[in-house]
Amino acid sequence: MTEETKATTHFGEDVFGDEAIRTYLSKDTAKKLQATIREGKPLDPSIAGEVAHGIRHWAMDRGATHYTHWFLPMTGSTAEKHDSFLELKEGEPIMQFSGKNLIVGEPDASSFPSGGIRSTFEARGYTAWDPTSPAFIKRHSNGATLCIPTAFCAYTGESLDKKTPLLRSMQALDKSLKRLMKLFGRAEAHTACTLGAEQEYFLVDNEYWKRRPDLVLTGRTLFGAAPAKGQQLEDHYFGTIPNRVLSFMNDVERELWKLGIPAKTRHNEVAPAQFELAPQFEELNLASDHNMLVMDTLRTVAERHGLKCLLHEKPYAGVNGSGKHNNWSVAYGGKNLLDPGTDPHENAVFLTMLCAVIEAVDKHADLLRASVAGAGNDHRLGANEAPPAVISIYVGDQLAEVLDRLENPKSAKREEKGSLKIGVDTLPAIPKDATDRNRTSPFAFTGNKFEFRAPGSSVCCSGPMTVLNTIVAEAVDRIADELEASGAAGKAKPGEHTAAFHNALQKILQSSLKAHKRVVFNGNGYEAEWPKEAARRGLPNAPDTPSALAALAKKENIALFEKYGVMTKRELNSRHEIFLEEYAKKVRIEGACARDIASEMLLPAVRAEYLETAQALDTAAKVGVASGTAALKESLEELGDGLDAAKSEVKTLEAALGSDDEAATIAAMTALRSTLDKLERKVADSRWPLPKYSEMLFLY
Ligand code: ADP
Ligand code: MG
Repeated sequence: MTEETKATTHFGEDVFGDEAIRTYLSKDTAKKLQATIREGKPLDPSIAGEVAHGIRHWAMDRGATHYTHWFLPMTGSTAEKHDSFLELKEGEPIMQFSGKNLIVGEPDASSFPSGGIRSTFEARGYTAWDPTSPAFIKRHSNGATLCIPTAFCAYTGESLDKKTPLLRSMQALDKSLKRLMKLFGRAEAHTACTLGAEQEYFLVDNEYWKRRPDLVLTGRTLFGAAPAKGQQLEDHYFGTIPNRVLSFMNDVERELWKLGIPAKTRHNEVAPAQFELAPQFEELNLASDHNMLVMDTLRTVAERHGLKCLLHEKPYAGVNGSGKHNNWSVAYGGKNLLDPGTDPHENAVFLTMLCAVIEAVDKHADLLRASVAGAGNDHRLGANEAPPAVISIYVGDQLAEVLDRLENPKSAKREEKGSLKIGVDTLPAIPKDATDRNRTSPFAFTGNKFEFRAPGSSVCCSGPMTVLNTIVAEAVDRIADELEASGAAGKAKPGEHTAAFHNALQKILQSSLKAHKRVVFNGNGYEAEWPKEAARRGLPNAPDTPSALAALAKKENIALFEKYGVMTKRELNSRHEIFLEEYAKKVRIEGACARDIASEMLLPAVRAEYLETAQALDTAAKVGVASGTAALKESLEELGDGLDAAKSEVKTLEAALGSDDEAATIAAMTALRSTLDKLERKVADSRWPLPKYSEMLFLY
């Protein structure tokens, strides 16, 4: 194996991790910094200067001339504003980076969306170092920049970013779990939420992309007839990865490994030209930052290969959209709480967590739905092969039976002896192979983790994960409340639970399950019957972004976020406003783009075809030829009807845009598209100005 191909050689070389800390900092400082990182504690200000000095030397050794506080503003992407290390001291140039530069920044960030939290005249925003996500080097063709992951907040302390609420939600869950685990007799430990984010994306040749103003401006195709071949044969999924794509993937992985991102799995996805990258899971905050870097890297490396990486949720109609499956779990003291254990005690913890998640998801399905809402994902949720907009949980048949036994121990049929009762334990045994392969559920238990599949491919993981942590914290707390009230908890030593404890626990879980099992759905989520059944069960089904986002304004949801210190009412209101505005803007941009493409590119092509056909008819009449004229006439009529329809649809679209009506804009765009997609098949291929689906999806 060459040095170049050994992933371990370069893994993390552009990250200020353990090795760099040991090399560039004194022993004492290194120890203090490592403790800060491990325990997520605030940095000891007395070491800030030395840490900054060490980081600068490390970064300069890697070619960095600049540094930036790297943060996640509410735009949904990452933000960076570079400053050089260069300073003039009495006219002499020196390189400098102080402890203060490391810990806080004050970008003039007045143009970031704040949803009314910060008006431009008091535009100060602060970035604060998040030592739990290590500094890294971002390289470009002739230089490099030191990036310091930070949280971004207003002068008043209110969060203006996507990282802060995530960190707060992790703290909230940690607190609730510490309480619950104590009742289980476990020694106090650190909670680690874990995330493995599977990233789906499309690739398209840069030359096609440049000729598609819709892709350039909106990230998705607003026109395009379905090609003769789409994904019917399902021959792309897990197929041989095309050579050009494979070399792109190799480059991506090499970059990611350098950044300490454990890219692990790569494969073709279901739709043509669709692919997936999955890293090995990591602690949530780091994994969430890493996913932002994964998206960034996919985009920049694609350029080098003459490709464009499309991260939009639905770049093409008629084939699968792209998601970002958030595999989430939670470990306590290094042990995954969603791993069904081997002994009764571990089983009890597992079942408690399982019930807590079911309760949380049922109670707050609206918030989970809101966390994945967006103009792009609206085209995906509920569409072909995407999880439906109804949030339900899949646990698999085996686990469903376990839950059934838990809820109704008497009526349950006892299979093999020992599988139901274990010693004094009244809780059922868990089959070890309780994994499932159901792909149609938005929220599936997959062996030792939950896979939230509703998030769209372009989303920042922090939104959905913040909601999940918070709602699970609440359910865990509620169970802890009842356990405490039962008086049966906290008396036993670890591993020695009394029958009274398990009886109390069983009762609590039984009533939780009774109240919330309606959210468990083990059938096929793609079936037309499911939304109807879901409605009968009273599960919410928000079909679009504005209706989904309404959850953020509900009194009980505001109270929940406030109670857990994750977001204040003002912060939540601001987010609601930002998301609604982002949605409206995106729809308006799409509407305007569709209007322009139709008026300036497609209708002229149809008119030219019309003219040519009319001239042919004219010529035929002049020379007195009758054959062919029937066909020509029919074509002319079809083209003419299409022109008439499209023209009036453009007017409708224009009116919708003028009245700022998003629903009307979407309806008008859909109608216009349908007319023009039909016309695409009636106009000579050589004349059609947009690259076609058959080219973009298959030629790369
Ligand atoms: P698939 O769902 O496609 O079968 P895998 O089983 O490979 O995919 O896992 C998907 C993702 O789940 C990977 O990123 C993996 O690291 C992650 N994962 C595995 N265990 C956990 C866990 N305990 N917590 C969070 N993510 C996990
Ligand atoms: Mg998966």
